[in-house]
Amino acid sequence: MRCPFCKTDETKVVDSRLVAEGDQVRRRRECMSCHERFTSYETAELLMPSIIKHDGSREPFNEQKLRSGMMRALEKRPVSSDQIELAINQIKHFLQSTGERELKSFEVGKCVMEQLRELDKVAYVRYASVYLSFQDIDEFQKALDQLRHTED
Ligand SMILES: [Zn+2]
Repeated sequence: MRCPFCKTDETKVVDSRLVAEGDQVRRRRECMSCHERFTSYETAELLMPSIIKHDGSREPFNEQKLRSGMMRALEKRPVSSDQIELAINQIKHFLQSTGERELKSFEVGKCVMEQLRELDKVAYVRYASVYLSFQDIDEFQKALDQLRHTED
């Protein structure tokens, strides 16, 4: 880390301790050049990335929108709300773990499809038909074949 006094890049950590009930690391650092000491704080960043839509515009991640999209695909399917919440948590966990500040909606959709594929094949195909917006019956058939293929 750069020294805030002389701007040299060479500094060393002389002390390190957990603060804020373990959510933060406080480090005492010493500059190798001017020998001034300063403190830095480190916290984990777990931000939900913004979503880049197909038209290039950005919107904040919307959990409600994610949930309603999945619920539509899962309508009248034998999947419990606990299973749905678990899947949503896994999707959110994945989005956070990328460490990206922005993600394409395409990547979120892919993640939803992976979860639905595990939960319920019918819901998966329903979601895929909206999400991939099949143009004709051949494309739809191809997606079904792929699904069948992965089960072999
Ligand atoms: Zn310095």
